[in-house]
Amino acid sequence: MKYFSTRSRAGHLLSFEEAVFSGLAPDGGLYIPEHIPTLPRNWQDEWESYSFLDLSVAVLSLYISPDELSPDELRALVNRSYSTFRHPDIAPLAKLSDNEFVLELFHGPTFSFKDVALQLLGNLFEFFLARRNARKSSGERPESLAVVGATSGDTGSAAIYGLRGKNNVSIFILHPKGRISPVQEAQMTTVTDSNVYNIAVKGTFDACQDIVKALFGDQPFNEKYHLAAVNSINWARILAQTVYYFFAYFHVRRQIPHPESSEIQFVVPTGNFGDILAGYYARRMGLPMGKLVVATNSNDILTRFWRTGRYEKLESTPGCDASIRSPAMDILVSSNFERLLWYLAHELSSAAPDSARRASAGATVGDWMKSVKDDGRVEVPVGVLELARRDFLAERISDDQTLQTIKQYFIGSPSYIADPHTSVALSAARIVSTNNPPSVVQVVLSTAHPAKFAEAVTKALSTVQGFDFERDVLPQEFLGLLEKERRVIDVDETSEEMVKNVIERELGAAGTRI
Ligand SMILES: *Cc1c(COP(=O)(O)O)cnc(C)c1O
Repeated sequence: MKYFSTRSRAGHLLSFEEAVFSGLAPDGGLYIPEHIPTLPRNWQDEWESYSFLDLSVAVLSLYISPDELSPDELRALVNRSYSTFRHPDIAPLAKLSDNEFVLELFHGPTFSFKDVALQLLGNLFEFFLARRNARKSSGERPESLAVVGATSGDTGSAAIYGLRGKNNVSIFILHPKGRISPVQEAQMTTVTDSNVYNIAVKGTFDACQDIVKALFGDQPFNEKYHLAAVNSINWARILAQTVYYFFAYFHVRRQIPHPESSEIQFVVPTGNFGDILAGYYARRMGLPMGKLVVATNSNDILTRFWRTGRYEKLESTPGCDASIRSPAMDILVSSNFERLLWYLAHELSSAAPDSARRASAGATVGDWMKSVKDDGRVEVPVGVLELARRDFLAERISDDQTLQTIKQYFIGSPSYIADPHTSVALSAARIVSTNNPPSVVQVVLSTAHPAKFAEAVTKALSTVQGFDFERDVLPQEFLGLLEKERRVIDVDETSEEMVKNVIERELGAAGTRI
């Protein structure tokens, strides 16, 4: 299997390894597989009894050529990646009723669904680097990577836990000092592995992002230190996430009275469109499911797209009181949405043969994204919108509704405590379900443990008698977290140079870790 860019007009192909190392394509596009694999003929019977790990190997191997990763190598990487999860099922399902399940994706080391992908990505980096270095002759400089990123919370800690202790990889994560939640700050800065550098920037999240952009824009620096990103457009992240849709499918069918006549509907709290895009791949591969439901908070560029066919940036993220909402979904544009746009453009194009049709889709997507960049908006042809509506529904949920839903589920039976992101999806599921026939079974993806968003959960449940955050929500692992030893480097917001100095000092003049 090879990969190409969503903006490619020429069909230049990369291996899986190259796509994983590149992240973004040089033309600004995102990598997608040259075709979407179909499922093996006996998949239903054969995969039925598979564990999460077995399913990972089965699904991933459809997208990775065996000459890049042998079945044994893939199995070893998958085993290592998910050995850090606390739950034996990796992604257990909570049954709320015969028609409503929650797929809990937060049982990894940072209690965020991002662990599912980043635990694997870290091991892929380490594996590919080790293999490249083993092929070098003695005396040649070993290859290494310096992952650099900015975070307002969730991504940073999941990336740090994905890369801690990995050979030939260092990770530098910038966060705005004092402006992220105490738990998330502690999760990041208490990781004291020697290859992990937390940089606290005196300034805003935007200041952190500007510094990171400046570093990536500095070509000589970039080449010397092999800067890499692990953001949500990395293909390996999407691929890893496809697995849990299959896992949920089999597990739900075992727990409902009429699996043969039921239809599963996945509802996904959405920001950068990575999580739900993985579901779209599963659907295109042939996993039976109803329309995928996009659930957004008031950063609703996606729900507005599904209503109007216009993909249009707002000036700024609206109404930000990050402490009482779902901050990991606060986005202005959804970076992975471009991948869906490519499939829609490809389907609508009548060019032939397929190579010409792909080139035409690449050109169309390139034009659309240019217009988003230049004018802040693009309006797609009505045919594209119709295709998008064939596969997706979309709902926008207010912050008030999000808090109310947390309360409704807590006092409901069975009682369930949702974090605000999960609550956005639960709210959307309720709205959509009013139009569902009784045969539809909803699976709501839960993307974070409620303890990560203590303020929102506490606020939602403050009027419930007998609610006790420490007893009802706080996991053992968080006890004492705030008091643990920390390692963090402080820098000024104006100072891209200071961040460079940190990287230079830590990695040495040669560009590899010393
Ligand atoms: C990142 C994140 C999301 C959004 O996922 P996307 O793949 O960006 O759509 C939702 N919830 C939580 C808790 C997250 O960390």
